Amino acid sequence: MTFSTTVKTELMKRELEPCCKKAMTYGLLLFGKDFSASSIRLSTEHRYIAEYYAKSIKEQTGIEPIITASGKNKKYVASIKTNQLRAKVLECFGHTGKEIPLRLNRANIQDECCFGAFLAGAFISCGTVTTPEKNYHMEFSTPYQRLCKDLMNLMNELDLNTKLMSRDYAYSLYIKNSECIEDVLTTMGATQATLKVMGTKIQKDIINNANRRANFDNANIARTVDASAAQREAIKRLRKKGAFNSLDETTKLVAVAREENPIASLSEMETILEGRISRSGINHRLKKIVRLAEDTK
Ligand SMILES: [Zn+2]
Repeated sequence: MTFSTTVKTELMKRELEPCCKKAMTYGLLLFGKDFSASSIRLSTEHRYIAEYYAKSIKEQTGIEPIITASGKNKKYVASIKTNQLRAKVLECFGHTGKEIPLRLNRANIQDECCFGAFLAGAFISCGTVTTPEKNYHMEFSTPYQRLCKDLMNLMNELDLNTKLMSRDYAYSLYIKNSECIEDVLTTMGATQATLKVMGTKIQKDIINNANRRANFDNANIARTVDASAAQREAIKRLRKKGAFNSLDETTKLVAVAREENPIASLSEMETILEGRISRSGINHRLKKIVRLAEDTK
């Protein structure tokens, strides 16, 4: 199941007040494939969406769209067959079906509570949202430019900032900001989906931080290993040249600890030497060893 269908399924399970039910049905109709005197229909890959569309219209208008399945592209089409029935459905929502351009009739969105329901209906008919694990992208798409702008204005009023783009004879409102997607989902009433987006975002942050941390650690380890190799090389050289025994006792102690612990960091060396020599003392002596070895060349 895609994230879009998860969201739609959640929206379809909501219990709505009568005013909101009307607004939701209006959203379904207006953003379906057609909403005019000659055609009212929704085309979808999912039978349950076609059924929800049909059921909602039946409840509001008493007229039940007929669902047909075309086996070829696995599409389900819910449509109202006759001119007379279409005229009745259009009338219920204050449309004649002859409006050019097709516009949003705000009278169908009575109260503030109905905004979210209308948006949910529109989303079920024409919306998509990418799974937050991949990226943040939500889109509402319609062939009607004016209608698309009306939806944009409505969403702006709710501080849901969308961008408009046109592509292949379709107009889309899209959102790429995760917080704004969360707001739209919340406004529509998809609480579970909102939590999923928020949860995924936190998970991504944790993984990013862990990766950053691991990179940092790797860089530190690489530096320690390089320095240690040079130090051990120096100690070997001092031994070979017979200069090792003339080192002071503390430096000898540090040298032996380094030979025995090739990848220990300075802090680890401090622990190995049981705190007898400080970190900076160890560092100082290791540098001295490298310098003395250089001098014997
Ligand atoms: Zn309402």
